[in-house]
Amino acid sequence: MNRPTDRSAQLFQRAVGAMPGGVNSPVRAFGSVGGTPRFLQRGAGSHIWDVDGNEYIDYVCSWGPLILGHAPQAVVEAACQATRRGSSFGAPTEIEVQMAELVKQCFPGIELLRMVSSGTEAAMSATRVARAYTGRSKVLKFDGCWHGHVDALLVRAGSTGLQYGVPDSAGVPQGCASDTLVARYNDLDSVRQVLAGSADDCAAIIVEPVAGNMGVIPPRPGFLQGLRDLCTQHGILLIFDEVITGFRLALGGAQERYGVRADLTTLGKIIGGGFPAAAYGGSAEIMHQVSPLGPMVQAGTLSGNPVALAAGVTTLRALQQPGVYELLEERAAQLEAGLSEAAQRAGVPVRCNRAGSMMTLFFTEHPVTDADDLAHCSSERYAAFFHGMLDRGIAFAPSYCEAAFVSTAHTPEDIEQTVAAAREVLAQL
Ligand SMILES: *Cc1c(COP(=O)(O)O)cnc(C)c1O
Repeated sequence: MNRPTDRSAQLFQRAVGAMPGGVNSPVRAFGSVGGTPRFLQRGAGSHIWDVDGNEYIDYVCSWGPLILGHAPQAVVEAACQATRRGSSFGAPTEIEVQMAELVKQCFPGIELLRMVSSGTEAAMSATRVARAYTGRSKVLKFDGCWHGHVDALLVRAGSTGLQYGVPDSAGVPQGCASDTLVARYNDLDSVRQVLAGSADDCAAIIVEPVAGNMGVIPPRPGFLQGLRDLCTQHGILLIFDEVITGFRLALGGAQERYGVRADLTTLGKIIGGGFPAAAYGGSAEIMHQVSPLGPMVQAGTLSGNPVALAAGVTTLRALQQPGVYELLEERAAQLEAGLSEAAQRAGVPVRCNRAGSMMTLFFTEHPVTDADDLAHCSSERYAAFFHGMLDRGIAFAPSYCEAAFVSTAHTPEDIEQTVAAAREVLAQL
């Protein structure tokens, strides 16, 4: 069963000598599951190949952007054509207008948006514009939610922090985090408690409307609406960080799916179609703060990059075709049912949390509804599951508290093959 990993191991050895931990984003180093990170060479549809020639069905999908799978032809063509015309100008281009209009169509709460290059930038800028608009300084976030590596938001910040046991990053001055309030996900009472006494200083509540960075944790019924009501009551802006959920749960993201409208929305991942692009937006009144209209400064050399936006616009147009979200739901439901049934058959207690085409199999018998519940989840069992699956050509995320993503390229046969492998692996746990 053991597949060759010599080339990956050799590359990793060189990588470690040149980059911290050999990687450019920590989770890629396999720290939480052990073993050699696979160096990938190629992807097509739902499949990827590593440098040793091993093939895998991929459920990482670049951590969410690849909702159409790897290298979809139309996206590749669009990006290549855009590159030939010139990859960056630092001046306005038509594709930016097309993208902005598409996003506005999908998100009725967005009247004006600004494009940036990463989800981190989007979250950083959205909180800045909230502070500029309200004239208040505090921001409330939730334990276990990740909004990129923004200094002030690197507090109790999801898998990257959780996994390495450092909820507060070194290098973030106390002052940066002192305006950050933290409440418990899915717990409106904890929000009320945290706001008591400081609601008038609070500029924004930022939340992943479906948590995806402590594993998938859907909102309890009423949680998002409760946040909406509290924000309205106290003049606080509600920021939905839809970097994962935007265009994944529906064209209009979690806001469409749950019928709750945010004041500010951040988008990333899918919007770039596999290239670096992200955005933040909201009502015209709020976004009038943003330079050059208003006093809030935010700029970027590669913002609205034409290659990334060509890929992004092509991806969004593909998602606008009828039946796409029904197909994603069907495939993801098939995977959820198959994995749950396989675990039950093997007598392994699991909880499968799913919202649309994002899901996590937690190794616990308890429900997982907030970051505290992760303490009950077995990372050792997940690591054994992960390696068993990888050996059988199925790639899940290399950490127990991450999401698995299903794309439109995943076929019923892919899912069947995945479930068959899971039966074998779970039976041996
Ligand atoms: C991925 C992610 C980010 C950060 O995006 P980057 O492009 O990695 O900077 C922010 N928020 C959420 C919810 C994310 O999942």
